[in-house]
Amino acid sequence: MSEREDLVLAYRILAAHGVVDAYGHVSLRTAKDPNRYLLARAMAPELVTADDILEFDLDSNPVKDVKAALYLERYIHGEIFKRRADINAVVHNHSPSVIPFGVTTVPLRPLFNTGAFVGEGVPTFEIRDFQDSGDLIIKTPHLGHALATTLGARPAALMRGHGAVVVGESLMLAVVRSVYLELSARLQMQAMLIAGPGDHVVYLDEREVAATSSRQVSAGTWKRTWDLWCAKARAQIAMERNAKRRGRNESVKADPSREEDV
Ligand SMILES: [Zn+2]
Repeated sequence: MSEREDLVLAYRILAAHGVVDAYGHVSLRTAKDPNRYLLARAMAPELVTADDILEFDLDSNPVKDVKAALYLERYIHGEIFKRRADINAVVHNHSPSVIPFGVTTVPLRPLFNTGAFVGEGVPTFEIRDFQDSGDLIIKTPHLGHALATTLGARPAALMRGHGAVVVGESLMLAVVRSVYLELSARLQMQAMLIAGPGDHVVYLDEREVAATSSRQVSAGTWKRTWDLWCAKARAQIAMERNAKRRGRNESVKADPSREEDV
């Protein structure tokens, strides 16, 4: 698989899990040059193909002249890659269940196995601290840098009234964390609702977070998840290709001028 094909699968997987809808994007630092990254042109994640993937420098300028529209928020990716040499993939999403935690003082906390990384800390980015425009979009390198600074060394950060940014040493890790951040937020809301005011929810403690995270790394836990999700995404792409091919064949049959040619 090429990096572009891997990135297409990442877009599809995030869309299939409701982490991105018509908006949101995922990037991958290139193996050949750590100062370059791949990101789709501005379009809905579920429609991205390998032909839609563009290459950018870390100032988030496209490497080649392109006519395509670009994501306004591409600076999120470039500025995080600049600041985090350990990170090779970045997801920006408007994942619905994380939004309430970005607009309240209730912190996201680790409460189940696959969401243990939440215990490494998920800070909230307050855009008002960095601009006066009233727009919530990360549309400048300045705002991208501010978001990267808030993220610091953590696996994810919430963006108040907007969404989240999630990072990983690999594309797999950034995607897995994005899916489980959404699930973790949903489960925490459910647990808090069941517990009611003043009741107690038992979260993972620091030792459990550390032990769970290191076991997940040593056991290669995410490989099984990743392989499953990639297989489903590939099947979906193959189905779309077949449907397109069938559609083309049918239109050729239905076109009398084509019949004359034959
Ligand atoms: Zn956004």
